[in-house]
Amino acid sequence: MVPEGLEVREEEGSNMEIHVQKKNEIELVFTISGADMSFVNAIRRVCMMEVPKMAIDDVHIIKNDSAMFDEVLAHRLGLLPLVSDSESIDGMILPEECDCEEYCPKCSVSMVLKKEGPGVVYSKDLSSEDSRIKPVYDTIPLLKLKDDQEVELEATAQLGIGMEHAKWEPTTACAYKFYPQITIGEDCQSCQKCAEACPRGVLEFDKKSEKIKVVDELNCSMCKSCFRVCESRTIDIGFDDTKFIFTIETDGSTPPEEVLIKACDVLSEKADKIIDIL
Ligand SMILES: [Zn+2]
Repeated sequence: MVPEGLEVREEEGSNMEIHVQKKNEIELVFTISGADMSFVNAIRRVCMMEVPKMAIDDVHIIKNDSAMFDEVLAHRLGLLPLVSDSESIDGMILPEECDCEEYCPKCSVSMVLKKEGPGVVYSKDLSSEDSRIKPVYDTIPLLKLKDDQEVELEATAQLGIGMEHAKWEPTTACAYKFYPQITIGEDCQSCQKCAEACPRGVLEFDKKSEKIKVVDELNCSMCKSCFRVCESRTIDIGFDDTKFIFTIETDGSTPPEEVLIKACDVLSEKADKIIDIL
């Protein structure tokens, strides 16, 4: 029964559309339309804060003759991106879900670093007991050793989430912006000043039609440089508030599409929990 004066609005089916614009090992850019800001922001927050990855959490320094303080070295080790794609961390669980007393192979991976100077100690010098979980990059400098100096330590890597510490954040950049809408009016004199003023190559003068054309809408940062130089005021910069450009950039530990998939799983689990409770 619907009370008088109230209107029943039928929910339309989801008309969300996603188009991938750029995808490589560390970056994913896609457009998402038919969604609202709160939903897109929820995905962004979960990508950054609740997708688990591996990071060194405990360091036992046996010997450190270098000029670097033990705490600084431990901090550097914590920030090392470790391989954390689904295949590599298969079977690993978060320490709080593990029933062991401190560390066990289900929740932690132990690593050893032993090196004598002189020379620079790099991330590749860290040897891991699990060949899958190791530093993503070999050439990250950790510290410098002089003649007769030595470093020896044991480190333990565990899964964690960004909400707890930034070292467990899989993303280095995770952001969205409204989809720009650039309209060029009929009165355009084709003076080309807008194309010259644009710092991102969004506009171009088309020699064939002798008109200004939008060639790279996605790259527009809405700085309005074009708008300011347009004497005839025919160019207009706006945005579509139901369409977003979403960028995920990772530190190389987890592929960006995997971060997105896992974030959607986390959101979906939360929704399931609510349904269960109700
Ligand atoms: Zn354990």
